[in-house]
Amino acid sequence: MISNLNYEVIIIGGGPAGLSAGLYTSRARLSSLLIEKMGVGGQIADAERVDNYPGFPEGISGFELGQLMHQQATKYGLKTLIAEVAGIELQEGQKVVKTTEGNFTAKAVIIASGSERRKLGIPGEEKFTGKGVSYCATCDAAFFKEKPVAMVGGGDAAITEALYLAKFASKVTVIHRRDQLRASCILQEKAFSEPKMEFLWNTVVEEIEGRDLVQRIKLRQVKTGKKSTLDISGTFISVGLKPNTDYLKGVLPLDAAGYIITNDKMETEIPGIFAAGDIRHNSTRQAITAAGDGATAAIYAEKFITEIDK
Ligand code: NAP
Repeated sequence: MISNLNYEVIIIGGGPAGLSAGLYTSRARLSSLLIEKMGVGGQIADAERVDNYPGFPEGISGFELGQLMHQQATKYGLKTLIAEVAGIELQEGQKVVKTTEGNFTAKAVIIASGSERRKLGIPGEEKFTGKGVSYCATCDAAFFKEKPVAMVGGGDAAITEALYLAKFASKVTVIHRRDQLRASCILQEKAFSEPKMEFLWNTVVEEIEGRDLVQRIKLRQVKTGKKSTLDISGTFISVGLKPNTDYLKGVLPLDAAGYIITNDKMETEIPGIFAAGDIRHNSTRQAITAAGDGATAAIYAEKFITEIDK
């Protein structure tokens, strides 16, 4: 229960960027509130294993990493509110953060609300979401034991998830719109040596079909135009990310894809509003760089507050 409505810093988003920002602002003894829509950890909480976060030589589950970050920040006084942010308003030097749980004010705001999975926007996708269409292999792979599934996409996320799916499914068909994966070399090597994985190149999914559950997908070879059908039980979609900035339209300038533009101090165009992590234009989208952004934003938020309090 959050009774205090006024803070020195409000952080929007509970992924690695927001949690690191909260750790730094709390340790700087600034009263800090972190507002998160779902649960802490952000996208990393869905990762079965994170092998590239320094300090964990054996790797760590993404969920556990998020919980540990939250515990550490909470120990120093960070408060957490589960609510959705609807907008930010500027009022007499204060920032008013409007949420589904009421309005909160702060001297500085750090926006770290990250991004969410992009959709394909094809017939059947929405209808079968949760009925064979999934955006999270770590969450749903176990439902497809010994069944054939498809993974749409060719990036790091798609291939990481396809490798995880191969532990459960009878076959994983990776469907990629080009003839080369975007994923890193190390992931490609693993994928090409996984006997359960097959690749359909230069191919797009046009429709997902079934009765109550997914039964097949309709495909088109983009070079030849040839159409075909693939019988599968599950369609996993991992075609990149969309920034969670809808609530910022009209508040901050966004780039063409909706990301926030910052300088290297994580400052936005509005004094006292900072942005960190995946939500930033040209972010490298790694947990470790998001955490670094969060720490940087917190350090400059503290300097900003010191200046205005003089
Ligand atoms: P991504 O790197 O943007 O890859 C998206 C993939 O989806 C690309 O292969 C893209 O094809 C394909 N795609 C996009 N729109 C499509 C459409 N409408 N239809 C069909 N295919 C479509 O996104 P991501 O894999 O989600 O990764 C996001 C970021 O997180 C990246 O920076 C990535 O490096 C990072 N990440 C890192 C790890 C890790 O292990 N370190 C794990 C996961 C994610 P094209 O290749 O043709 O563009």
